[in-house]
Amino acid sequence: MGDVTTGAAGIDRYEHALMGTYGTPMRVLTRGEGSYVWDADGARYLDLLGGIAVNALGHGHPAWVAAVAHQAQTLAHTSNFFATAPQIELAERLLELADAPAGSRVFFSNSGAEANEAAFKMARKTGRGTVIALEGGFHGRTMGALAMTHKPAIREQFEPMPGGVVFVPANDTVALRSAAEAAGSDLAAIITEPIQGEAGVRPLTHEFFALARELTTEAGALLIVDEIQTGVARTGAWFAHQLHGIAPDVMTLAKGLGGGFPIGAVVAFGPDAGSLLGKGEHGTTFGGNPMGAATALATLQAIDEENLLANVKAVGAHLRERLEKVEGVFEVRGEGLMLAIGLAQPSAPQVAAAAADAGFIVNPPSPDTIRLVPALNLSVAEADSFIDWFAAYQASDPGTEDGGR
Ligand SMILES: *Cc1c(COP(=O)(O)O)cnc(C)c1O
Repeated sequence: MGDVTTGAAGIDRYEHALMGTYGTPMRVLTRGEGSYVWDADGARYLDLLGGIAVNALGHGHPAWVAAVAHQAQTLAHTSNFFATAPQIELAERLLELADAPAGSRVFFSNSGAEANEAAFKMARKTGRGTVIALEGGFHGRTMGALAMTHKPAIREQFEPMPGGVVFVPANDTVALRSAAEAAGSDLAAIITEPIQGEAGVRPLTHEFFALARELTTEAGALLIVDEIQTGVARTGAWFAHQLHGIAPDVMTLAKGLGGGFPIGAVVAFGPDAGSLLGKGEHGTTFGGNPMGAATALATLQAIDEENLLANVKAVGAHLRERLEKVEGVFEVRGEGLMLAIGLAQPSAPQVAAAAADAGFIVNPPSPDTIRLVPALNLSVAEADSFIDWFAAYQASDPGTEDGGR
Protein backbone atom coordinates (compact mmCIF):
# COMPACT_ATOMS: atom_id res chain seq x y z
CA MET A 1 0.00 0.00 0.00
CA GLY A 2 2.98 2.36 0.35
CA ASP A 3 2.88 5.18 2.82
CA VAL A 4 -0.70 6.15 3.48
CA THR A 5 -0.04 5.53 7.14
CA THR A 6 -0.48 9.18 7.96
CA GLY A 7 -3.14 11.48 6.60
CA ALA A 8 -0.59 14.08 5.48
CA ALA A 9 1.36 11.59 3.34
CA GLY A 10 -1.85 10.20 1.87
CA ILE A 11 -3.19 13.62 0.94
CA ASP A 12 0.11 14.54 -0.71
CA ARG A 13 -0.02 11.38 -2.82
CA TYR A 14 -3.70 11.96 -3.58
CA GLU A 15 -2.94 15.40 -4.93
CA HIS A 16 -0.23 14.04 -7.21
CA ALA A 17 -2.33 11.19 -8.60
CA LEU A 18 -5.95 12.35 -8.76
CA MET A 19 -7.50 15.19 -10.72
CA GLY A 20 -8.30 18.21 -8.60
CA THR A 21 -12.06 17.98 -9.18
CA TYR A 22 -12.96 17.68 -5.49
CA GLY A 23 -10.40 19.99 -3.91
CA THR A 24 -8.21 18.86 -1.04
CA PRO A 25 -9.73 15.94 0.89
CA MET A 26 -10.54 16.62 4.57
CA ARG A 27 -8.90 13.41 5.80
CA VAL A 28 -7.77 9.99 4.60
CA LEU A 29 -10.33 7.53 5.97
CA THR A 30 -9.42 3.94 6.64
CA ARG A 31 -12.44 2.17 8.12
CA GLY A 32 -15.99 2.56 9.37
CA GLU A 33 -18.36 0.89 11.78
CA GLY A 34 -21.94 1.98 12.31
CA SER A 35 -22.02 5.78 12.33
CA TYR A 36 -18.29 6.08 13.06
CA VAL A 37 -15.29 6.30 10.73
CA TRP A 38 -11.56 6.37 11.51
CA ASP A 39 -8.81 8.26 9.71
CA ALA A 40 -5.26 7.28 8.83
CA ASP A 41 -3.97 8.94 12.00
CA GLY A 42 -6.32 6.88 14.17
CA ALA A 43 -8.83 9.63 15.00
CA ARG A 44 -12.50 8.66 15.22
CA TYR A 45 -15.39 10.69 13.78
CA LEU A 46 -19.16 10.53 14.11
CA ASP A 47 -20.22 10.51 10.46
CA LEU A 48 -23.22 12.81 10.02
CA LEU A 49 -22.71 13.08 6.27
CA GLY A 50 -22.90 9.36 5.48
CA GLY A 51 -21.03 9.63 2.18
CA ILE A 52 -23.55 12.36 1.22
CA ALA A 53 -26.77 10.54 2.10
CA VAL A 54 -25.42 7.22 0.79
CA ASN A 55 -24.48 5.00 3.76
CA ALA A 56 -28.11 4.48 4.74
CA LEU A 57 -27.29 1.67 7.19
CA GLY A 58 -24.04 3.22 8.38
CA HIS A 59 -20.73 1.47 7.79
CA GLY A 60 -20.23 -2.29 7.80
CA HIS A 61 -23.84 -3.24 8.56
CA PRO A 62 -23.72 -7.06 8.99
CA ALA A 63 -26.69 -7.84 6.71
CA TRP A 64 -25.34 -5.55 4.00
CA VAL A 65 -21.85 -7.05 4.26
CA ALA A 66 -23.33 -10.56 4.09
CA ALA A 67 -25.32 -9.62 0.98
CA VAL A 68 -22.20 -8.25 -0.74
CA ALA A 69 -20.18 -11.36 0.12
CA HIS A 70 -22.93 -13.78 -0.83
CA GLN A 71 -23.65 -12.12 -4.16
CA ALA A 72 -19.95 -11.81 -5.02
CA GLN A 73 -19.55 -15.53 -4.42
CA THR A 74 -22.71 -16.43 -6.30
CA LEU A 75 -22.84 -14.19 -9.39
CA ALA A 76 -21.34 -10.70 -9.54
CA HIS A 77 -22.13 -9.55 -13.05
CA THR A 78 -23.86 -10.85 -16.14
CA SER A 79 -24.75 -8.22 -18.83
CA ASN A 80 -28.21 -7.15 -19.79
CA PHE A 81 -28.54 -10.04 -22.25
CA PHE A 82 -29.49 -11.95 -19.09
CA ALA A 83 -31.85 -11.47 -16.17
CA THR A 84 -31.02 -12.20 -12.53
CA ALA A 85 -33.16 -12.78 -9.47
CA PRO A 86 -31.83 -9.80 -7.45
CA GLN A 87 -32.57 -7.41 -10.32
CA ILE A 88 -36.13 -8.69 -10.79
CA GLU A 89 -36.84 -8.67 -7.04
CA LEU A 90 -35.46 -5.17 -6.61
CA ALA A 91 -37.57 -3.78 -9.46
CA GLU A 92 -40.68 -5.40 -7.98
CA ARG A 93 -39.86 -4.14 -4.48
CA LEU A 94 -39.35 -0.56 -5.67
CA LEU A 95 -42.66 -0.60 -7.55
CA GLU A 96 -44.36 -1.90 -4.42
CA LEU A 97 -42.77 0.69 -2.09
CA ALA A 98 -43.63 3.47 -4.54
CA ASP A 99 -47.28 2.35 -4.76
CA ALA A 100 -46.76 2.37 -8.52
CA PRO A 101 -49.83 1.43 -10.58
CA ALA A 102 -50.04 -1.46 -13.06
CA GLY A 103 -47.86 -0.93 -16.12
CA SER A 104 -45.11 0.84 -14.12
CA ARG A 105 -41.54 -0.14 -14.94
CA VAL A 106 -38.00 0.30 -13.58
CA PHE A 107 -34.68 0.99 -15.34
CA PHE A 108 -31.41 0.56 -13.40
CA SER A 109 -28.40 2.84 -13.71
CA ASN A 110 -25.16 3.15 -11.74
CA SER A 111 -25.48 6.67 -10.38
CA GLY A 112 -27.82 9.58 -9.90
CA ALA A 113 -26.70 11.54 -12.92
CA GLU A 114 -27.28 8.50 -15.10
CA ALA A 115 -30.76 8.00 -13.69
CA ASN A 116 -31.54 11.61 -14.62
CA GLU A 117 -30.03 11.11 -18.08
CA ALA A 118 -32.53 8.31 -18.64
CA ALA A 119 -35.34 10.52 -17.35
CA PHE A 120 -34.22 13.29 -19.71
CA LYS A 121 -34.32 10.85 -22.63
CA MET A 122 -37.84 9.85 -21.56
CA ALA A 123 -38.81 13.53 -21.70
CA ARG A 124 -37.34 13.81 -25.20
CA LYS A 125 -39.15 10.63 -26.21
CA THR A 126 -42.50 12.34 -25.64
CA GLY A 127 -41.72 14.22 -28.86
CA ARG A 128 -41.84 17.57 -27.08
CA GLY A 129 -38.96 19.95 -26.50
CA THR A 130 -39.32 21.96 -23.29
CA VAL A 131 -38.21 20.82 -19.86
CA ILE A 132 -38.82 23.12 -16.90
CA ALA A 133 -36.23 22.81 -14.13
CA LEU A 134 -35.71 24.85 -10.96
CA GLU A 135 -33.19 27.40 -9.89
CA GLY A 136 -31.26 25.83 -7.02
CA GLY A 137 -31.94 22.36 -8.44
CA PHE A 138 -29.14 19.84 -8.75
CA HIS A 139 -29.40 16.80 -11.01
CA GLY A 140 -25.80 15.71 -11.63
CA ARG A 141 -22.67 16.45 -13.63
CA THR A 142 -23.12 14.60 -16.92
CA MET A 143 -24.17 16.80 -19.83
CA GLY A 144 -27.88 16.02 -19.80
CA ALA A 145 -28.17 16.17 -16.01
CA LEU A 146 -26.07 19.33 -16.01
CA ALA A 147 -28.35 20.89 -18.63
CA MET A 148 -31.17 20.59 -16.07
CA THR A 149 -28.97 21.94 -13.25
CA HIS A 150 -29.19 25.68 -12.83
CA LYS A 151 -26.02 26.72 -10.99
CA PRO A 152 -24.04 28.79 -13.54
CA ALA A 153 -20.67 28.14 -11.84
CA ILE A 154 -20.81 24.42 -12.61
CA ARG A 155 -22.33 24.58 -16.12
CA GLU A 156 -21.20 27.70 -17.96
CA GLN A 157 -17.72 26.43 -18.87
CA PHE A 158 -19.26 23.35 -20.48
CA GLU A 159 -21.77 25.02 -22.76
CA PRO A 160 -23.39 24.45 -25.19
CA MET A 161 -25.71 22.21 -23.20
CA PRO A 162 -28.48 20.04 -24.61
CA GLY A 163 -31.23 22.58 -25.30
CA GLY A 164 -34.83 23.12 -24.36
CA VAL A 165 -34.40 23.55 -20.60
CA VAL A 166 -35.90 26.61 -18.94
CA PHE A 167 -35.45 27.52 -15.29
CA VAL A 168 -37.87 29.02 -12.82
CA PRO A 169 -37.25 30.02 -9.20
CA ALA A 170 -38.19 27.26 -6.75
CA ASN A 171 -41.52 27.82 -5.00
CA ASP A 172 -42.52 30.65 -7.36
CA THR A 173 -45.93 29.43 -8.50
CA VAL A 174 -46.48 32.45 -10.75
CA ALA A 175 -43.22 31.82 -12.62
CA LEU A 176 -43.95 28.10 -12.92
CA ARG A 177 -47.39 28.73 -14.32
CA SER A 178 -46.14 31.25 -16.86
CA ALA A 179 -43.25 28.99 -17.97
CA ALA A 180 -45.73 26.15 -18.52
CA GLU A 181 -48.03 28.49 -20.45
CA ALA A 182 -45.14 29.71 -22.60
CA ALA A 183 -44.18 26.10 -23.39
CA GLY A 184 -47.79 25.20 -24.17
CA SER A 185 -48.10 21.91 -26.03
CA ASP A 186 -44.27 21.70 -26.24
CA LEU A 187 -43.99 21.04 -22.49
CA ALA A 188 -42.27 17.66 -22.13
CA ALA A 189 -41.54 17.62 -18.41
CA ILE A 190 -41.08 19.46 -15.15
CA ILE A 191 -38.16 18.10 -13.11
CA THR A 192 -37.74 18.86 -9.42
CA GLU A 193 -36.34 17.54 -6.17
CA PRO A 194 -38.96 17.42 -3.36
CA ILE A 195 -36.30 19.01 -1.12
CA GLN A 196 -33.41 20.70 -2.91
CA GLY A 197 -30.38 19.02 -1.40
CA GLU A 198 -27.29 20.69 -2.84
CA ALA A 199 -29.01 24.08 -2.62
CA GLY A 200 -28.86 23.65 1.15
CA VAL A 201 -31.85 21.43 2.02
CA ARG A 202 -34.63 23.68 0.75
CA PRO A 203 -38.06 22.00 0.70
CA LEU A 204 -40.60 22.70 -2.02
CA THR A 205 -43.85 24.09 -0.70
CA HIS A 206 -46.81 21.76 -1.01
CA GLU A 207 -48.55 24.40 -3.12
CA PHE A 208 -45.68 24.55 -5.63
CA PHE A 209 -45.33 20.76 -5.85
CA ALA A 210 -49.09 20.38 -6.34
CA LEU A 211 -49.02 23.01 -9.09
CA ALA A 212 -46.19 21.15 -10.88
CA ARG A 213 -48.39 18.04 -10.77
CA GLU A 214 -51.44 19.94 -12.00
CA LEU A 215 -49.62 21.67 -14.88
CA THR A 216 -47.92 18.48 -16.13
CA THR A 217 -51.19 16.54 -15.96
CA GLU A 218 -53.01 19.27 -17.90
CA ALA A 219 -50.30 19.41 -20.57
CA GLY A 220 -49.85 15.65 -20.83
CA ALA A 221 -46.24 16.16 -19.75
CA LEU A 222 -44.08 14.23 -17.28
CA LEU A 223 -43.58 15.19 -13.66
CA ILE A 224 -40.05 13.94 -12.97
CA VAL A 225 -39.21 13.83 -9.27
CA ASP A 226 -35.50 13.59 -8.52
CA GLU A 227 -35.43 11.61 -5.26
CA ILE A 228 -31.75 10.75 -5.53
CA GLN A 229 -31.09 12.41 -2.18
CA THR A 230 -34.58 12.42 -0.62
CA GLY A 231 -35.56 8.84 -1.49
CA VAL A 232 -35.13 5.50 0.28
CA ALA A 233 -36.43 6.51 3.74
CA ARG A 234 -34.24 9.60 4.11
CA THR A 235 -37.19 11.86 5.02
CA GLY A 236 -39.10 9.34 7.14
CA ALA A 237 -41.24 8.22 4.18
CA TRP A 238 -39.97 5.71 1.63
CA PHE A 239 -40.00 8.53 -0.90
CA ALA A 240 -40.44 12.24 -0.15
CA HIS A 241 -43.19 12.78 -2.73
CA GLN A 242 -45.34 10.50 -0.57
CA LEU A 243 -45.25 13.16 2.18
CA HIS A 244 -47.14 15.39 -0.27
CA GLY A 245 -49.55 12.69 -1.42
CA ILE A 246 -48.48 13.47 -4.99
CA ALA A 247 -47.46 10.71 -7.41
CA PRO A 248 -44.92 11.55 -10.12
CA ASP A 249 -44.69 10.06 -13.61
CA VAL A 250 -40.99 9.41 -13.21
CA MET A 251 -38.86 9.11 -10.06
CA THR A 252 -35.07 8.87 -10.04
CA LEU A 253 -33.12 7.22 -7.21
CA ALA A 254 -29.47 6.57 -6.36
CA LYS A 255 -27.42 7.65 -3.29
CA GLY A 256 -28.95 5.67 -0.39
CA LEU A 257 -30.42 2.94 -2.59
CA GLY A 258 -27.39 0.65 -2.50
CA GLY A 259 -26.38 1.63 1.03
CA GLY A 260 -22.85 2.39 -0.22
CA PHE A 261 -22.74 0.37 -3.41
CA PRO A 262 -23.24 2.36 -6.64
CA ILE A 263 -26.71 1.83 -8.10
CA GLY A 264 -29.38 4.17 -9.44
CA ALA A 265 -32.91 3.60 -10.66
CA VAL A 266 -35.61 5.23 -12.71
CA VAL A 267 -39.15 4.33 -11.72
CA ALA A 268 -41.73 5.11 -14.43
CA PHE A 269 -45.28 5.29 -13.09
CA GLY A 270 -48.03 3.75 -15.19
CA PRO A 271 -48.05 2.25 -18.70
CA ASP A 272 -47.47 5.49 -20.64
CA ALA A 273 -44.28 6.49 -18.81
CA GLY A 274 -43.35 2.83 -18.37
CA SER A 275 -43.19 2.24 -22.12
CA LEU A 276 -41.44 5.46 -23.24
CA LEU A 277 -38.07 3.78 -23.64
CA GLY A 278 -38.23 0.62 -25.74
CA LYS A 279 -35.85 -1.95 -27.08
CA GLY A 280 -32.49 -0.49 -28.08
CA GLU A 281 -33.40 3.01 -26.91
CA HIS A 282 -31.37 3.07 -23.70
CA GLY A 283 -28.94 0.89 -21.78
CA THR A 284 -25.81 0.62 -19.66
CA THR A 285 -23.42 -2.27 -19.08
CA PHE A 286 -23.48 -2.31 -15.28
CA GLY A 287 -27.09 -1.21 -14.77
CA GLY A 288 -28.96 -3.48 -12.37
CA ASN A 289 -26.14 -5.96 -12.08
CA PRO A 290 -26.55 -8.56 -9.32
CA MET A 291 -24.06 -6.86 -6.96
CA GLY A 292 -25.87 -3.53 -7.06
CA ALA A 293 -29.30 -5.13 -6.91
CA ALA A 294 -28.38 -7.37 -3.96
CA THR A 295 -26.97 -4.48 -1.94
CA ALA A 296 -30.10 -2.44 -2.60
CA LEU A 297 -32.35 -5.34 -1.59
CA ALA A 298 -30.34 -5.77 1.63
CA THR A 299 -30.60 -2.03 2.32
CA LEU A 300 -34.37 -1.94 1.77
CA GLN A 301 -34.85 -5.06 3.87
CA ALA A 302 -32.84 -3.68 6.81
CA ILE A 303 -34.76 -0.39 6.67
CA ASP A 304 -37.95 -2.40 6.94
CA GLU A 305 -36.87 -4.96 9.56
CA GLU A 306 -35.15 -2.44 11.80
CA ASN A 307 -38.03 0.05 11.65
CA LEU A 308 -35.76 2.75 10.34
CA LEU A 309 -38.60 4.89 9.00
CA ALA A 310 -39.67 5.38 12.62
CA ASN A 311 -36.07 5.96 13.72
CA VAL A 312 -35.58 8.59 11.01
CA LYS A 313 -38.68 10.45 12.18
CA ALA A 314 -37.82 10.21 15.87
CA VAL A 315 -34.12 11.09 15.68
CA GLY A 316 -34.83 13.75 13.04
CA ALA A 317 -37.46 15.39 15.27
CA HIS A 318 -35.08 15.24 18.25
CA LEU A 319 -32.25 16.85 16.27
CA ARG A 320 -34.55 19.57 15.01
CA GLU A 321 -35.95 20.37 18.42
CA ARG A 322 -32.53 20.67 20.05
CA LEU A 323 -30.80 22.41 17.14
CA GLU A 324 -33.46 25.10 16.97
CA LYS A 325 -32.46 26.19 20.49
CA VAL A 326 -28.74 26.52 19.75
CA GLU A 327 -27.27 29.99 19.74
CA GLY A 328 -26.67 31.44 16.28
CA VAL A 329 -29.09 29.03 14.61
CA PHE A 330 -31.46 30.95 12.39
CA GLU A 331 -33.64 28.02 11.31
CA VAL A 332 -33.63 24.26 10.84
CA ARG A 333 -34.86 23.02 7.44
CA GLY A 334 -35.69 19.63 5.95
CA GLU A 335 -37.44 16.40 6.91
CA GLY A 336 -36.41 13.30 8.82
CA LEU A 337 -32.66 12.80 8.62
CA MET A 338 -32.16 15.27 5.79
CA LEU A 339 -31.64 18.42 7.79
CA ALA A 340 -29.97 21.78 7.36
CA ILE A 341 -28.87 24.03 10.17
CA GLY A 342 -29.38 27.57 8.87
CA LEU A 343 -26.77 29.74 10.59
CA ALA A 344 -27.28 33.40 11.34
CA GLN A 345 -23.69 34.03 10.15
CA PRO A 346 -21.87 32.74 7.04
CA SER A 347 -19.71 30.58 9.31
CA ALA A 348 -20.58 27.10 7.98
CA PRO A 349 -17.12 26.30 6.53
CA GLN A 350 -15.47 27.19 9.87
CA VAL A 351 -18.08 25.22 11.81
CA ALA A 352 -17.52 22.16 9.60
CA ALA A 353 -13.73 22.40 10.00
CA ALA A 354 -14.01 22.81 13.78
CA ALA A 355 -16.47 19.91 13.91
CA ALA A 356 -14.00 17.66 12.07
CA ASP A 357 -11.25 18.61 14.51
CA ALA A 358 -13.64 17.70 17.32
CA GLY A 359 -14.57 14.34 15.73
CA PHE A 360 -17.78 15.10 13.79
CA ILE A 361 -18.23 14.98 10.02
CA VAL A 362 -20.79 17.50 8.74
CA ASN A 363 -21.02 19.36 5.44
CA PRO A 364 -21.47 23.03 4.50
CA PRO A 365 -23.34 23.11 1.13
CA SER A 366 -23.46 26.92 1.37
CA PRO A 367 -21.74 29.50 3.62
CA ASP A 368 -24.65 29.72 6.06
CA THR A 369 -25.79 26.08 6.00
CA ILE A 370 -24.64 22.92 7.74
CA ARG A 371 -26.14 19.78 6.22
CA LEU A 372 -26.79 16.59 8.19
CA VAL A 373 -27.60 13.44 6.18
CA PRO A 374 -26.40 10.66 8.53
CA ALA A 375 -27.11 6.94 8.56
CA LEU A 376 -30.82 6.17 8.98
CA ASN A 377 -30.01 4.14 12.12
CA LEU A 378 -28.28 7.02 13.92
CA SER A 379 -29.13 6.88 17.63
CA VAL A 380 -30.39 9.72 19.84
CA ALA A 381 -27.20 9.41 21.93
CA GLU A 382 -25.03 9.83 18.82
CA ALA A 383 -27.10 12.80 17.69
CA ASP A 384 -26.81 14.32 21.18
CA SER A 385 -23.03 14.02 21.18
CA PHE A 386 -22.89 16.28 18.14
CA ILE A 387 -25.48 18.75 19.42
CA ASP A 388 -23.66 19.05 22.76
CA TRP A 389 -20.43 19.88 20.96
CA PHE A 390 -22.17 22.23 18.50
CA ALA A 391 -24.03 24.14 21.24
CA ALA A 392 -20.78 24.63 23.18
CA TYR A 393 -18.96 25.72 20.03
CA GLN A 394 -21.66 28.22 19.09
CA ALA A 395 -21.72 29.62 22.63
CA SER A 396 -17.95 30.17 22.54
CA ASP A 397 -17.55 31.35 18.94
CA PRO A 398 -17.01 35.12 18.63
CA GLY A 399 -18.68 35.02 15.17
CA THR A 400 -22.10 34.33 16.68
CA GLU A 401 -22.12 36.94 19.45
CA ASP A 402 -24.07 39.55 17.55
CA GLY A 403 -26.96 37.13 17.09
CA GLY A 404 -29.46 36.83 14.23
CA ARG A 405 -29.77 38.69 10.98
C1 LIG B 1 -26.29 13.58 -5.79
C2 LIG B 1 -27.45 13.99 -6.61
C3 LIG B 1 -27.49 13.75 -8.00
C4 LIG B 1 -26.31 13.17 -8.74
O1 LIG B 1 -26.04 11.87 -8.39
P1 LIG B 1 -24.60 11.24 -8.74
O2 LIG B 1 -24.69 9.83 -8.26
O3 LIG B 1 -23.58 12.06 -8.03
O4 LIG B 1 -24.44 11.33 -10.21
C5 LIG B 1 -28.63 14.10 -8.69
N1 LIG B 1 -29.68 14.64 -8.06
C6 LIG B 1 -29.69 14.87 -6.74
C7 LIG B 1 -30.91 15.44 -6.09
C8 LIG B 1 -28.57 14.58 -5.97
O5 LIG B 1 -28.57 14.84 -4.67
